[in-house]
Amino acid sequence: MTELFQEIELPSGGSYNQPLGLFINNEWVASSCDEKIESIDASTGEVIAAVQAADAKLDVDKAVDAARKAFPVWRDTPATQKRDLLLKLATIVEQNAEQLAKVESLDSGKPLEANAKDDVGAITQVLKYYAGWADKAPGQSFSPDANTLTYTIHQPLGVVGCIIPFNYPLAMMAWKWTAIATGNTAVFKSAEQTPLSILFFANLVKEAGFPPGVFNVLSGTGAKVGDAMAKHLGIDKIAFTGSTPVGQLIQQSAAVNLKPVTLECGGKSPNVIFEDADFHKAVKWTAEGIFSNMGQICSGTSRCFVQESIYDKFVDALAKHVEENYIVGHPTEPGVKVGPQISKRQQERIQYYIQKGIDEGCRVALGGPGLPDSIAQSEKCKSGFYVKPTILANVTSSHIVAREEIFGPVIVIGKFSTYDEALEIANDSCYGLGSAVFTQDITKAHKFASQVEAGVCYVNSSNQVDFALPFGGVKMSGHGRELGEYGLGNFTSVKAVYVNLGN
Ligand code: NAD
Ligand code: MN
Repeated sequence: MTELFQEIELPSGGSYNQPLGLFINNEWVASSCDEKIESIDASTGEVIAAVQAADAKLDVDKAVDAARKAFPVWRDTPATQKRDLLLKLATIVEQNAEQLAKVESLDSGKPLEANAKDDVGAITQVLKYYAGWADKAPGQSFSPDANTLTYTIHQPLGVVGCIIPFNYPLAMMAWKWTAIATGNTAVFKSAEQTPLSILFFANLVKEAGFPPGVFNVLSGTGAKVGDAMAKHLGIDKIAFTGSTPVGQLIQQSAAVNLKPVTLECGGKSPNVIFEDADFHKAVKWTAEGIFSNMGQICSGTSRCFVQESIYDKFVDALAKHVEENYIVGHPTEPGVKVGPQISKRQQERIQYYIQKGIDEGCRVALGGPGLPDSIAQSEKCKSGFYVKPTILANVTSSHIVAREEIFGPVIVIGKFSTYDEALEIANDSCYGLGSAVFTQDITKAHKFASQVEAGVCYVNSSNQVDFALPFGGVKMSGHGRELGEYGLGNFTSVKAVYVNLGN
Protein backbone atom coordinates (compact mmCIF):
# COMPACT_ATOMS: atom_id res chain seq x y z
CA MET A 1 0.00 0.00 0.00
CA THR A 2 1.51 3.32 -1.02
CA GLU A 3 0.53 6.07 1.39
CA LEU A 4 0.55 9.59 0.02
CA PHE A 5 0.38 11.27 3.44
CA GLN A 6 1.41 10.56 6.99
CA GLU A 7 0.60 12.26 10.28
CA ILE A 8 3.89 13.24 11.91
CA GLU A 9 4.44 14.25 15.54
CA LEU A 10 6.61 17.32 15.91
CA PRO A 11 9.17 17.33 18.74
CA SER A 12 8.38 21.04 19.06
CA GLY A 13 4.72 20.19 19.77
CA GLY A 14 1.65 19.22 17.73
CA SER A 15 1.48 17.13 14.60
CA TYR A 16 0.95 17.75 10.89
CA ASN A 17 0.07 15.97 7.68
CA GLN A 18 3.27 15.29 5.70
CA PRO A 19 2.98 14.57 1.97
CA LEU A 20 5.06 11.55 0.91
CA GLY A 21 4.38 11.33 -2.83
CA LEU A 22 5.54 13.25 -5.86
CA PHE A 23 4.12 16.69 -6.60
CA ILE A 24 3.35 16.86 -10.32
CA ASN A 25 0.75 19.10 -12.01
CA ASN A 26 -0.41 20.37 -8.61
CA GLU A 27 -1.38 16.82 -7.61
CA TRP A 28 0.10 14.33 -5.18
CA VAL A 29 0.89 11.21 -7.18
CA ALA A 30 2.46 7.90 -6.23
CA SER A 31 5.89 7.03 -7.54
CA SER A 32 6.10 4.49 -10.36
CA CYS A 33 8.66 2.49 -8.39
CA ASP A 34 8.85 1.01 -4.88
CA GLU A 35 11.91 2.88 -3.75
CA LYS A 36 11.65 4.94 -0.57
CA ILE A 37 13.86 7.59 1.00
CA GLU A 38 13.99 7.89 4.77
CA SER A 39 14.35 11.24 6.44
CA ILE A 40 16.22 10.75 9.68
CA ASP A 41 15.86 12.92 12.77
CA ALA A 42 19.50 13.99 13.01
CA SER A 43 19.17 14.78 16.73
CA THR A 44 18.24 11.19 17.63
CA GLY A 45 19.12 9.01 14.65
CA GLU A 46 15.50 7.82 14.39
CA VAL A 47 13.51 7.60 11.16
CA ILE A 48 10.88 10.36 10.84
CA ALA A 49 9.18 9.14 7.67
CA ALA A 50 9.87 7.49 4.35
CA VAL A 51 8.97 9.46 1.24
CA GLN A 52 8.53 7.94 -2.21
CA ALA A 53 11.53 8.19 -4.51
CA ALA A 54 10.72 9.06 -8.10
CA ASP A 55 11.45 6.53 -10.81
CA ALA A 56 14.43 7.92 -12.71
CA LYS A 57 12.76 7.33 -16.07
CA LEU A 58 8.97 7.25 -15.72
CA ASP A 59 8.49 9.89 -13.05
CA VAL A 60 11.18 12.27 -14.26
CA ASP A 61 9.54 12.10 -17.71
CA LYS A 62 6.14 12.69 -16.12
CA ALA A 63 7.31 15.77 -14.23
CA VAL A 64 9.17 17.15 -17.25
CA ASP A 65 6.09 16.62 -19.45
CA ALA A 66 3.94 18.48 -16.94
CA ALA A 67 6.42 21.35 -16.85
CA ARG A 68 6.70 21.40 -20.67
CA LYS A 69 2.93 21.60 -21.10
CA ALA A 70 2.70 24.32 -18.48
CA PHE A 71 5.51 26.36 -20.04
CA PRO A 72 3.55 28.27 -22.72
CA VAL A 73 0.71 28.85 -20.26
CA TRP A 74 3.02 30.29 -17.62
CA ARG A 75 5.26 32.15 -20.06
CA ASP A 76 2.22 33.94 -21.50
CA THR A 77 0.61 34.68 -18.15
CA PRO A 78 0.59 38.48 -17.78
CA ALA A 79 3.57 39.69 -15.80
CA THR A 80 1.39 41.39 -13.19
CA GLN A 81 -0.38 38.07 -12.53
CA LYS A 82 2.96 36.32 -12.09
CA ARG A 83 3.92 39.03 -9.61
CA ASP A 84 0.65 38.71 -7.70
CA LEU A 85 0.93 34.92 -7.47
CA LEU A 86 4.45 35.17 -6.09
CA LEU A 87 3.29 37.75 -3.56
CA LYS A 88 0.36 35.55 -2.61
CA LEU A 89 2.69 32.60 -2.10
CA ALA A 90 4.92 34.77 0.11
CA THR A 91 1.88 35.70 2.21
CA ILE A 92 0.82 32.05 2.56
CA VAL A 93 4.37 31.14 3.56
CA GLU A 94 4.24 33.87 6.20
CA GLN A 95 0.94 32.50 7.51
CA ASN A 96 2.49 29.03 7.74
CA ALA A 97 5.92 30.20 8.86
CA GLU A 98 5.84 28.61 12.31
CA GLN A 99 4.80 25.23 10.93
CA LEU A 100 7.22 25.36 8.04
CA ALA A 101 10.09 26.20 10.41
CA LYS A 102 9.16 23.25 12.65
CA VAL A 103 9.19 20.87 9.69
CA GLU A 104 12.51 22.28 8.44
CA SER A 105 14.02 21.91 11.90
CA LEU A 106 12.82 18.31 12.23
CA ASP A 107 13.90 17.36 8.71
CA SER A 108 17.37 18.92 8.88
CA GLY A 109 18.30 19.16 12.58
CA LYS A 110 18.54 22.95 12.42
CA PRO A 111 17.91 24.68 15.75
CA LEU A 112 14.36 25.99 15.48
CA GLU A 113 14.93 29.45 16.93
CA ALA A 114 18.52 30.06 15.86
CA ASN A 115 18.27 28.80 12.27
CA ALA A 116 15.01 27.34 10.95
CA LYS A 117 12.83 30.38 11.70
CA ASP A 118 15.37 32.68 10.07
CA ASP A 119 15.47 30.49 6.98
CA VAL A 120 11.69 30.64 6.62
CA GLY A 121 11.75 34.41 7.13
CA ALA A 122 14.33 34.60 4.38
CA ILE A 123 12.28 32.57 1.90
CA THR A 124 9.29 34.91 2.22
CA GLN A 125 11.66 37.80 1.55
CA VAL A 126 13.21 36.20 -1.50
CA LEU A 127 9.79 35.34 -2.95
CA LYS A 128 8.70 38.96 -2.48
CA TYR A 129 11.96 40.17 -3.98
CA TYR A 130 11.45 38.09 -7.14
CA ALA A 131 7.77 39.00 -7.27
CA GLY A 132 9.11 42.51 -7.77
CA TRP A 133 11.12 41.45 -10.82
CA ALA A 134 8.31 39.40 -12.38
CA ASP A 135 6.63 42.49 -13.82
CA LYS A 136 9.79 44.26 -14.87
CA ALA A 137 11.37 43.33 -18.19
CA PRO A 138 14.54 45.31 -18.56
CA GLY A 139 15.35 45.03 -22.26
CA GLN A 140 17.26 47.65 -24.25
CA SER A 141 16.47 49.54 -27.43
CA PHE A 142 18.79 51.39 -29.77
CA SER A 143 18.60 53.12 -33.14
CA PRO A 144 22.02 52.79 -34.79
CA ASP A 145 20.80 54.89 -37.76
CA ALA A 146 17.61 56.58 -38.97
CA ASN A 147 16.44 53.45 -40.77
CA THR A 148 17.04 50.92 -38.06
CA LEU A 149 15.39 50.22 -34.75
CA THR A 150 16.81 47.47 -32.59
CA TYR A 151 15.71 46.07 -29.28
CA THR A 152 16.28 43.12 -26.98
CA ILE A 153 13.77 40.77 -25.36
CA HIS A 154 14.54 38.70 -22.27
CA GLN A 155 12.83 35.34 -22.64
CA PRO A 156 12.51 32.34 -20.35
CA LEU A 157 14.47 29.22 -21.27
CA GLY A 158 11.69 26.64 -20.83
CA VAL A 159 11.86 23.90 -18.21
CA VAL A 160 14.46 24.39 -15.48
CA GLY A 161 15.70 21.46 -13.38
CA CYS A 162 16.57 22.61 -9.87
CA ILE A 163 18.76 20.36 -7.70
CA ILE A 164 18.82 21.25 -4.01
CA PRO A 165 21.36 20.50 -1.22
CA PHE A 166 20.63 19.45 2.36
CA ASN A 167 22.07 22.41 4.23
CA TYR A 168 19.39 25.02 3.42
CA PRO A 169 16.60 22.94 1.87
CA LEU A 170 13.90 25.62 1.79
CA ALA A 171 16.22 28.57 1.27
CA MET A 172 18.15 27.06 -1.67
CA MET A 173 14.82 26.02 -3.17
CA ALA A 174 13.44 29.56 -2.78
CA TRP A 175 16.49 31.15 -4.39
CA LYS A 176 15.72 29.10 -7.50
CA TRP A 177 12.23 30.62 -7.76
CA THR A 178 13.97 33.18 -9.97
CA ALA A 179 13.32 30.56 -12.64
CA ILE A 180 9.56 30.79 -12.13
CA ALA A 181 9.51 34.57 -11.67
CA THR A 182 11.17 34.93 -15.09
CA GLY A 183 8.55 32.74 -16.82
CA ASN A 184 10.15 29.29 -16.77
CA THR A 185 8.51 26.21 -15.33
CA ALA A 186 10.48 23.96 -13.00
CA VAL A 187 11.12 20.47 -11.71
CA PHE A 188 12.75 20.51 -8.28
CA LYS A 189 14.64 17.63 -6.69
CA SER A 190 15.25 17.79 -2.96
CA ALA A 191 18.35 16.38 -1.27
CA GLU A 192 17.89 12.79 -0.07
CA GLN A 193 18.61 13.84 3.54
CA THR A 194 15.92 16.53 3.59
CA PRO A 195 12.87 15.67 1.48
CA LEU A 196 10.11 16.73 3.89
CA SER A 197 10.02 20.52 4.00
CA ILE A 198 9.94 21.06 0.23
CA LEU A 199 7.01 18.63 -0.11
CA PHE A 200 5.21 20.52 2.64
CA PHE A 201 5.95 23.80 0.82
CA ALA A 202 4.41 22.35 -2.38
CA ASN A 203 1.01 22.37 -0.65
CA LEU A 204 1.39 26.12 -0.21
CA VAL A 205 2.23 26.60 -3.90
CA LYS A 206 -0.97 24.79 -4.80
CA GLU A 207 -2.95 26.90 -2.34
CA ALA A 208 -1.52 30.09 -3.88
CA GLY A 209 -3.08 29.07 -7.21
CA PHE A 210 -0.13 28.61 -9.55
CA PRO A 211 -1.21 26.85 -12.76
CA PRO A 212 -0.60 23.06 -12.70
CA GLY A 213 2.88 22.04 -13.86
CA VAL A 214 4.66 25.31 -13.07
CA PHE A 215 6.27 23.92 -9.92
CA ASN A 216 6.90 20.18 -9.58
CA VAL A 217 8.78 18.33 -6.86
CA LEU A 218 10.48 14.95 -6.94
CA SER A 219 12.22 13.18 -4.11
CA GLY A 220 15.02 10.87 -5.16
CA THR A 221 18.69 10.12 -5.00
CA GLY A 222 21.21 12.19 -6.89
CA ALA A 223 22.70 9.21 -8.65
CA LYS A 224 19.33 8.25 -10.15
CA VAL A 225 16.88 11.17 -10.26
CA GLY A 226 19.40 14.03 -10.22
CA ASP A 227 21.47 12.35 -12.91
CA ALA A 228 18.38 11.73 -15.05
CA MET A 229 17.46 15.41 -14.78
CA ALA A 230 20.94 16.60 -15.76
CA LYS A 231 20.82 14.37 -18.86
CA HIS A 232 17.16 14.99 -19.76
CA LEU A 233 16.55 16.33 -23.26
CA GLY A 234 13.32 17.97 -22.11
CA ILE A 235 15.10 20.08 -19.49
CA ASP A 236 16.52 23.36 -20.80
CA LYS A 237 18.67 24.39 -17.86
CA ILE A 238 20.00 23.00 -14.61
CA ALA A 239 20.32 25.18 -11.53
CA PHE A 240 22.42 23.17 -9.08
CA THR A 241 23.55 23.83 -5.53
CA GLY A 242 25.75 21.20 -3.96
CA SER A 243 29.25 19.81 -3.82
CA THR A 244 31.98 20.43 -6.37
CA PRO A 245 32.40 16.76 -7.46
CA VAL A 246 28.66 16.52 -8.22
CA GLY A 247 28.79 19.90 -9.97
CA GLN A 248 31.49 18.48 -12.25
CA LEU A 249 29.30 15.48 -13.09
CA ILE A 250 26.32 17.72 -13.83
CA GLN A 251 28.29 19.93 -16.17
CA GLN A 252 29.36 16.83 -18.11
CA SER A 253 25.85 15.37 -18.21
CA ALA A 254 24.39 18.69 -19.35
CA ALA A 255 26.55 18.54 -22.48
CA VAL A 256 24.00 16.12 -23.98
CA ASN A 257 21.79 19.01 -25.15
CA LEU A 258 24.17 21.85 -24.26
CA LYS A 259 21.79 22.98 -21.56
CA PRO A 260 23.25 25.84 -19.57
CA VAL A 261 24.04 25.14 -15.93
CA THR A 262 24.56 27.32 -12.93
CA LEU A 263 26.69 25.60 -10.35
CA GLU A 264 26.72 26.82 -6.76
CA CYS A 265 29.34 24.47 -5.36
CA GLY A 266 31.61 24.04 -2.37
CA GLY A 267 34.08 26.36 -0.73
CA LYS A 268 36.91 26.83 1.74
CA SER A 269 36.48 30.51 2.31
CA PRO A 270 39.30 32.58 3.82
CA ASN A 271 38.80 34.82 6.84
CA VAL A 272 41.70 37.24 7.21
CA ILE A 273 42.24 39.27 10.37
CA PHE A 274 44.73 42.14 10.45
CA GLU A 275 46.19 43.45 13.70
CA ASP A 276 44.38 46.77 13.23
CA ALA A 277 40.92 45.10 13.20
CA ASP A 278 38.21 45.86 15.75
CA PHE A 279 39.11 42.83 17.84
CA HIS A 280 35.70 42.03 19.33
CA LYS A 281 33.95 42.43 16.01
CA ALA A 282 36.48 40.08 14.42
CA VAL A 283 35.91 37.45 17.11
CA LYS A 284 32.12 37.66 16.89
CA TRP A 285 31.88 37.48 13.10
CA THR A 286 34.59 34.87 12.70
CA ALA A 287 32.57 32.62 15.00
CA GLU A 288 29.28 33.32 13.22
CA GLY A 289 30.87 32.74 9.82
CA ILE A 290 31.65 29.11 10.60
CA PHE A 291 29.69 27.94 13.64
CA SER A 292 26.18 28.95 12.58
CA ASN A 293 24.07 26.27 10.86
CA MET A 294 26.54 23.71 12.33
CA GLY A 295 29.17 24.88 9.85
CA GLN A 296 27.08 23.52 6.99
CA ILE A 297 27.49 26.77 5.07
CA CYS A 298 28.83 26.78 1.52
CA SER A 299 30.45 30.19 2.00
CA GLY A 300 31.41 29.40 5.62
CA THR A 301 34.64 31.19 6.49
CA SER A 302 36.35 27.99 7.58
CA ARG A 303 39.94 29.01 6.84
CA CYS A 304 41.11 31.74 9.19
CA PHE A 305 44.44 33.58 9.04
CA VAL A 306 45.44 36.05 11.75
CA GLN A 307 48.31 38.55 11.77
CA GLU A 308 51.03 37.14 14.03
CA SER A 309 51.10 40.01 16.58
CA ILE A 310 47.52 39.18 17.72
CA TYR A 311 47.45 35.48 16.85
CA ASP A 312 47.55 33.88 20.33
CA LYS A 313 45.21 36.45 21.82
CA PHE A 314 42.74 35.92 18.98
CA VAL A 315 42.71 32.12 19.19
CA ASP A 316 42.08 32.28 22.96
CA ALA A 317 39.33 34.88 22.60
CA LEU A 318 37.60 32.95 19.83
CA ALA A 319 37.67 29.71 21.84
CA LYS A 320 36.15 31.49 24.84
CA HIS A 321 33.47 33.22 22.75
CA VAL A 322 32.43 30.01 20.96
CA GLU A 323 32.33 28.01 24.17
CA GLU A 324 30.11 30.62 25.84
CA ASN A 325 27.78 31.39 22.95
CA TYR A 326 27.46 28.36 20.70
CA ILE A 327 25.36 26.17 22.96
CA VAL A 328 24.99 22.60 21.71
CA GLY A 329 21.71 20.78 22.25
CA HIS A 330 18.43 19.50 20.88
CA PRO A 331 17.15 21.69 18.02
CA THR A 332 13.90 22.53 19.83
CA GLU A 333 15.53 23.61 23.12
CA PRO A 334 15.55 27.35 23.71
CA GLY A 335 18.99 28.94 23.55
CA VAL A 336 20.51 26.15 21.45
CA LYS A 337 22.66 27.45 18.60
CA VAL A 338 24.30 24.20 17.53
CA GLY A 339 22.28 21.14 16.60
CA PRO A 340 23.41 17.89 14.99
CA GLN A 341 25.08 17.51 11.60
CA ILE A 342 22.81 16.27 8.86
CA SER A 343 23.78 12.59 8.88
CA LYS A 344 25.90 9.87 10.44
CA ARG A 345 28.04 10.00 7.31
CA GLN A 346 28.74 13.73 7.71
CA GLN A 347 29.38 13.27 11.45
CA GLU A 348 31.99 10.61 10.67
CA ARG A 349 33.49 12.66 7.86
CA ILE A 350 33.94 15.69 10.11
CA GLN A 351 35.41 13.52 12.89
CA TYR A 352 37.83 12.12 10.32
CA TYR A 353 39.01 15.65 9.46
CA ILE A 354 39.38 16.64 13.12
CA GLN A 355 41.59 13.61 13.68
CA LYS A 356 43.46 14.33 10.45
CA GLY A 357 44.23 17.84 11.72
CA ILE A 358 45.55 16.43 14.99
CA ASP A 359 47.67 13.90 13.10
CA GLU A 360 49.01 16.73 10.92
CA GLY A 361 50.21 18.51 14.07
CA CYS A 362 47.48 21.12 14.56
CA ARG A 363 46.66 22.20 18.13
CA VAL A 364 43.09 21.68 19.33
CA ALA A 365 42.14 25.05 20.86
CA LEU A 366 38.49 24.03 21.35
CA GLY A 367 36.41 20.89 20.83
CA GLY A 368 38.15 17.92 19.24
CA PRO A 369 37.01 14.37 18.51
CA GLY A 370 33.99 12.73 20.10
CA LEU A 371 30.52 13.87 21.14
CA PRO A 372 29.96 17.12 23.03
CA ASP A 373 29.74 16.28 26.77
CA SER A 374 26.14 17.43 27.16
CA ILE A 375 25.10 15.20 24.24
CA ALA A 376 27.03 12.13 25.42
CA GLN A 377 25.08 12.38 28.68
CA SER A 378 21.68 12.96 27.05
CA GLU A 379 19.42 9.90 26.73
CA LYS A 380 17.52 11.62 23.93
CA CYS A 381 20.44 12.89 21.82
CA LYS A 382 23.37 10.56 22.39
CA SER A 383 22.67 8.74 19.11
CA GLY A 384 22.28 12.03 17.24
CA PHE A 385 24.88 13.16 14.72
CA TYR A 386 26.61 15.74 16.89
CA VAL A 387 30.12 17.13 16.59
CA LYS A 388 31.94 19.48 18.97
CA PRO A 389 32.47 23.00 17.66
CA THR A 390 36.19 22.75 17.02
CA ILE A 391 39.08 25.16 16.57
CA LEU A 392 42.30 23.80 15.08
CA ALA A 393 45.24 26.17 15.58
CA ASN A 394 48.81 26.26 14.21
CA VAL A 395 47.52 25.43 10.77
CA THR A 396 49.38 26.26 7.57
CA SER A 397 48.00 26.50 4.08
CA SER A 398 49.50 23.13 3.16
CA HIS A 399 47.58 21.13 5.79
CA ILE A 400 44.80 18.96 4.37
CA VAL A 401 42.38 20.52 6.87
CA ALA A 402 43.19 23.91 5.31
CA ARG A 403 42.60 22.67 1.77
CA GLU A 404 39.54 20.40 1.74
CA GLU A 405 35.96 21.44 2.49
CA ILE A 406 34.99 19.91 5.86
CA PHE A 407 31.42 21.29 5.89
CA GLY A 408 31.06 21.16 9.64
CA PRO A 409 31.69 23.28 12.75
CA VAL A 410 35.47 23.26 12.37
CA ILE A 411 37.65 26.31 11.83
CA VAL A 412 41.36 26.11 11.07
CA ILE A 413 43.55 29.04 12.10
CA GLY A 414 46.99 29.96 10.81
CA LYS A 415 49.11 33.12 10.91
CA PHE A 416 50.69 35.61 8.52
CA SER A 417 52.94 38.63 8.82
CA THR A 418 52.35 40.92 5.82
CA TYR A 419 49.43 41.94 3.57
CA ASP A 420 51.01 40.21 0.59
CA GLU A 421 51.40 36.99 2.54
CA ALA A 422 47.78 37.18 3.72
CA LEU A 423 46.53 37.64 0.17
CA GLU A 424 48.68 34.82 -1.14
CA ILE A 425 47.41 32.41 1.52
CA ALA A 426 43.80 33.53 1.02
CA ASN A 427 44.02 32.78 -2.70
CA ASP A 428 45.90 29.50 -2.22
CA SER A 429 42.79 27.35 -2.70
CA CYS A 430 41.01 25.63 -5.56
CA TYR A 431 37.79 27.25 -4.28
CA GLY A 432 36.56 30.83 -4.52
CA LEU A 433 33.16 31.39 -2.93
CA GLY A 434 33.10 33.57 0.20
CA SER A 435 35.84 35.59 1.88
CA ALA A 436 36.09 37.94 4.82
CA VAL A 437 38.58 40.59 5.87
CA PHE A 438 38.84 42.37 9.19
CA THR A 439 40.68 45.68 9.35
CA GLN A 440 39.93 49.32 10.17
CA ASP A 441 42.15 50.53 7.35
CA ILE A 442 39.76 51.28 4.48
CA THR A 443 42.46 51.12 1.85
CA LYS A 444 43.55 47.67 2.94
CA ALA A 445 39.92 46.51 3.14
CA HIS A 446 39.01 47.59 -0.37
CA LYS A 447 42.30 46.39 -1.81
CA PHE A 448 41.73 42.95 -0.30
CA ALA A 449 38.11 42.86 -1.48
CA SER A 450 39.33 43.60 -4.98
CA GLN A 451 42.25 41.15 -4.98
CA VAL A 452 40.74 38.13 -3.24
CA GLU A 453 39.63 35.35 -5.60
CA ALA A 454 36.02 34.91 -4.49
CA GLY A 455 32.45 35.61 -5.55
CA VAL A 456 31.64 37.41 -2.31
CA CYS A 457 33.74 39.42 0.15
CA TYR A 458 32.58 40.51 3.59
CA VAL A 459 34.39 43.45 5.19
CA ASN A 460 34.25 43.26 9.00
CA SER A 461 31.40 40.72 8.92
CA SER A 462 30.58 37.31 7.55
CA ASN A 463 27.89 35.54 5.58
CA GLN A 464 25.36 38.31 5.28
CA VAL A 465 22.84 37.76 2.50
CA ASP A 466 20.98 40.52 0.74
CA PHE A 467 18.69 39.32 -2.04
CA ALA A 468 19.55 42.34 -4.17
CA LEU A 469 23.16 41.15 -4.45
CA PRO A 470 24.41 38.27 -6.58
CA PHE A 471 25.69 35.09 -4.89
CA GLY A 472 28.03 32.56 -6.45
CA GLY A 473 31.61 31.52 -6.87
CA VAL A 474 34.73 31.47 -9.01
CA LYS A 475 37.25 28.67 -9.60
CA MET A 476 35.93 25.31 -8.36
CA SER A 477 33.15 26.92 -6.35
CA GLY A 478 31.18 27.02 -9.57
CA HIS A 479 29.85 29.57 -12.02
CA GLY A 480 26.73 31.62 -12.61
CA ARG A 481 25.01 33.76 -10.01
CA GLU A 482 21.80 33.52 -8.04
CA LEU A 483 19.91 36.45 -6.48
CA GLY A 484 19.82 40.08 -7.45
CA GLU A 485 19.31 41.48 -10.91
CA TYR A 486 22.32 39.45 -12.05
CA GLY A 487 20.46 36.28 -11.13
CA LEU A 488 17.75 36.99 -13.72
CA GLY A 489 20.17 36.59 -16.60
CA ASN A 490 20.93 33.04 -15.52
CA PHE A 491 17.32 32.01 -16.21
CA THR A 492 16.60 33.92 -19.42
CA SER A 493 18.10 34.26 -22.85
CA VAL A 494 18.33 37.56 -24.61
CA LYS A 495 17.11 37.96 -28.18
CA ALA A 496 18.20 40.81 -30.46
CA VAL A 497 15.55 42.16 -32.88
CA TYR A 498 16.43 44.34 -35.89
CA VAL A 499 13.63 46.36 -37.51
CA ASN A 500 14.29 47.87 -40.90
CA LEU A 501 12.51 51.23 -41.07
CA GLY A 502 13.96 52.02 -44.52
CA ASN A 503 13.86 50.31 -47.91
P1 NAD B 1 25.71 16.97 -2.91
O1 NAD B 1 26.51 17.47 -4.07
O2 NAD B 1 26.03 15.68 -2.33
O3 NAD B 1 24.17 16.95 -3.28
C1 NAD B 1 23.50 18.08 -3.78
C2 NAD B 1 22.33 17.62 -4.63
O4 NAD B 1 22.83 16.97 -5.80
C3 NAD B 1 21.41 16.61 -3.94
O5 NAD B 1 20.07 16.87 -4.31
C4 NAD B 1 21.87 15.29 -4.54
O6 NAD B 1 20.88 14.31 -4.54
C5 NAD B 1 22.21 15.72 -5.96
N1 NAD B 1 23.11 14.80 -6.67
C6 NAD B 1 24.04 13.95 -6.13
N2 NAD B 1 24.65 13.26 -7.11
C7 NAD B 1 24.12 13.69 -8.29
C8 NAD B 1 24.36 13.37 -9.67
N3 NAD B 1 25.26 12.44 -10.02
N4 NAD B 1 23.65 14.00 -10.61
C9 NAD B 1 22.74 14.93 -10.27
N5 NAD B 1 22.46 15.28 -9.00
C10 NAD B 1 23.15 14.67 -8.01
O7 NAD B 1 25.81 18.16 -1.83
P2 NAD B 1 25.19 18.17 -0.36
O8 NAD B 1 26.04 17.28 0.46
O9 NAD B 1 23.73 18.01 -0.36
O10 NAD B 1 25.46 19.71 0.03
C11 NAD B 1 26.67 20.14 0.54
C12 NAD B 1 27.50 20.79 -0.53
O11 NAD B 1 26.76 21.84 -1.16
C13 NAD B 1 28.75 21.46 0.01
O12 NAD B 1 29.83 21.18 -0.83
C14 NAD B 1 28.39 22.94 -0.04
O13 NAD B 1 29.49 23.81 -0.11
C15 NAD B 1 27.54 23.02 -1.25
N6 NAD B 1 26.68 24.19 -1.22
C16 NAD B 1 26.95 25.23 -2.07
C17 NAD B 1 26.17 26.38 -2.03
C18 NAD B 1 26.45 27.55 -2.94
O14 NAD B 1 25.58 28.41 -3.05
N7 NAD B 1 27.60 27.62 -3.58
C19 NAD B 1 25.09 26.46 -1.15
C20 NAD B 1 24.83 25.37 -0.32
C21 NAD B 1 25.64 24.24 -0.38
MN1 MN C 1 16.37 14.38 7.71
